[in-house]
Amino acid sequence: MTTQTKSLFERANAVMPPVASRATTLGVVKGEGSYLWGEDGKKYLDFASGVAVTNVGHNHPLVVERAKAQIDTLIHGGHNVVYYPVYVELAEKLNELNGGNCKVYFSNSGAEVNEGAIKMAKKVTKRPGIISFKRSFHGRTLATTTLTASNSQYRKDYEGLLPSVYYAEYPYALRTGLSEEEEVKRCLHSLEEIFRFLIAPDQVAAIILEPVQGEGGYIVPPKAFVEELRRICDQHGILLIFDEIQTGFGRTGKMFAWQHFDVKPDILTLAKGIANGFPLSALVARADLMDQWTAGTHGGTYGGNPVACAASLAVIELLEGGLLENAVKMGAYFMEELRKLQANVPTIKDIRGLGLMIGVEFITADGKPDAAAVSALQKKALEKGLILLTCGTDKNVIRFIPPTTVTKAEIDEAMAIIKSSLAE
Ligand code: PLP
Repeated sequence: MTTQTKSLFERANAVMPPVASRATTLGVVKGEGSYLWGEDGKKYLDFASGVAVTNVGHNHPLVVERAKAQIDTLIHGGHNVVYYPVYVELAEKLNELNGGNCKVYFSNSGAEVNEGAIKMAKKVTKRPGIISFKRSFHGRTLATTTLTASNSQYRKDYEGLLPSVYYAEYPYALRTGLSEEEEVKRCLHSLEEIFRFLIAPDQVAAIILEPVQGEGGYIVPPKAFVEELRRICDQHGILLIFDEIQTGFGRTGKMFAWQHFDVKPDILTLAKGIANGFPLSALVARADLMDQWTAGTHGGTYGGNPVACAASLAVIELLEGGLLENAVKMGAYFMEELRKLQANVPTIKDIRGLGLMIGVEFITADGKPDAAAVSALQKKALEKGLILLTCGTDKNVIRFIPPTTVTKAEIDEAMAIIKSSLAE
């Protein structure tokens, strides 16, 4: 058998370690809009968007055009060496989108930018402590593995991680059975206990939060919780970091999720959808803090690559030019269709989310998290041409992450596949 008769999955398995795991065994050769084309010749409706990355659809023509033009002009200048127009333009734009008085530092990935955020918080406050949340996901480097608390498998055999990191509770009333108000109280109490028993608040540099938990289960916290965190941070001089790596760039129907809560973080971390697939991440923070991050105390070779910056400017232009609006409209339509489905599927316990960041949680007849049903649905849907991802610490949530370009017809197509998969 020649190599060519083997699937990409089989060839990859021979030369790649199992650690590079994937949600599917699908090999793809092309992407356009909401669709991917498999090496099997089949067309797949992609409601995973490369895990919330291709927010304006695969190979959007404007992104392609701007990236190509930038390739013809300059591929790498080196942000440790020179300045170039798209790099500065994108920083200006991100500052403007976050209300001004911010400064921007570019890196390459989500984990890298979260590393930068905690380094900056420590540098500026001269405090050692960081508080994260249970069920959170912040990345896979050693420091961000420490911040992550959604699965002990991510830490197993890597322990001996970053010191002085503590974990508070994140509101999930569906699980605790408490009212929203009581749940907020319970979670804030867990923070008070950290301050009381483990680390004094004046030793805490930052609290890092996903404004909607991604990997943890597409969980939207009550506004009162986020507002209270802002107040507590202000009270104790703690910096509030929002990890918007998954929630940013139109995913929730607004450019950033903080706008839903009307609570501004001191530090915002962005990646994934920022450049529709080109590796880029950005740390956006209060200018007075950034001004204290002294030259040479953080860095990296590739941050703010010109092609990625050009792509990102195109993404922002598209989102502002109508795609944010489409995400709101299509998100509402999708939710409505899912709720109609829920009426006939008693194992759907909850449908939640913001914009096009939608989670559907499944339970068994006796009320337990139903990971088996979710896994079966994901598999069946893929056979029928729909790519879906799961999330949740019990793996019993389907997460829908279509691009902001998605149409009603594409949502209808997905719903038909979901319905027939569930029926089987
Ligand atoms: N933070 C959040 C909320 C994420 O969802 C992810 C990735 O899934 C990361 C951080 C890590 O980003 P990256 O995989 O680019 O390092």
